[in-house]
Amino acid sequence: MNWENHVRKVVPYVAGEQPKNQNVIKLNTNENPYAPAPGVAQVIQNFDCEILRKYPDPDVSVLVDVLAKYHGLDSSQVFVGVGSDDVLAMSFLTFFNSGKPILFPDITYSFYDVWANLYRIPYERQALDDNFYIKKEDYTKKNGGIVLANPNAPTGIMTELSVLEEIIAANQDVVVIVDEAYVDFDGKSCVPFIEKYDNLLVVQTFSKSRALAGMRIGYAMGNPKLIQYLNDVKFSFNSYTMNALTIAVGVASVVDEVYFRQNIAKVVATRERTKIELAKLDFTFGDSKTNFIFATHKIVPAQEIFEALRANQIYVRHWNKPRIANYLRISIGTDEEMDKLITFLEQFLSKEKI
Ligand SMILES: *Cc1c(COP(=O)(O)O)cnc(C)c1O
Repeated sequence: MNWENHVRKVVPYVAGEQPKNQNVIKLNTNENPYAPAPGVAQVIQNFDCEILRKYPDPDVSVLVDVLAKYHGLDSSQVFVGVGSDDVLAMSFLTFFNSGKPILFPDITYSFYDVWANLYRIPYERQALDDNFYIKKEDYTKKNGGIVLANPNAPTGIMTELSVLEEIIAANQDVVVIVDEAYVDFDGKSCVPFIEKYDNLLVVQTFSKSRALAGMRIGYAMGNPKLIQYLNDVKFSFNSYTMNALTIAVGVASVVDEVYFRQNIAKVVATRERTKIELAKLDFTFGDSKTNFIFATHKIVPAQEIFEALRANQIYVRHWNKPRIANYLRISIGTDEEMDKLITFLEQFLSKEKI
């Protein structure tokens, strides 16, 4: 009768809506609008199901090796998981164990506080400035670790690498996690700092820039000791997190760098064009280095625009949270999708302003 008192109660993360209706313009979860590399389809079509008889490689070696090569690292510096959410959750469990509060911004990826609560890790949110930039002095107080998304989500704002380096250097007694989910869209990566700072863990994902959100591949890079500790926790939890097909798909994506660059260039070009159009419609936004734009309208409340878009089968993301309730996060779709969005906004806003 009392069992409920002893349950590990948590408030789960709320992901962006995945509408059942396929005919919507879906700009609400930062998925890539283009297909994954052509080699991915080939791997899936030619996959020998006989392989599934056996357990997959628990070390995910072939994927670890191509990722290490791609980033100019040693394989001992790479850890692969089932999406970066898995890698980040594992990292929180492994590295944030001091009892002291970990630090992250007040406006950031809303999974960080969920994991902290799940693992009973104390945390303190640090307020971004009015333009959504981090204040580096907030990250030099005593803490049990730091996690920063760079570029940040949902703001799209990128912290200068020199600022990040100061934070990493000032916190060598704890692990600093930099979540680079969006770094491929014009951002600058902290990976080069790995050789210099053994307390830095950089996390990336195949979900956005590699158009493989449905496959679930993420990874962490850092000093071999950090990676070893992560593996120890992983192998204490589930040795076979990544399945055999996913491993093969991951490799096919990484080896096609030409396609990868082309895909990113298209998304970035569409983003820059969309910025110009949104500005014409009286939206304001920071300098996004991601595949989304976090925008507020000078007159019309975000909630109203969100609802009007949704009623017209255009899904964007809106949070009823302090400081950001008047913002919309608009993922970058194809040019055609963004044209439809802009055309609808032109009509809707011209009516609203009369
Ligand atoms: C999308 C996203 C992730 C999670 O990505 P998956 O690899 O799909 O789990 C992690 N961090 C941030 C900031 C993201 O936006």
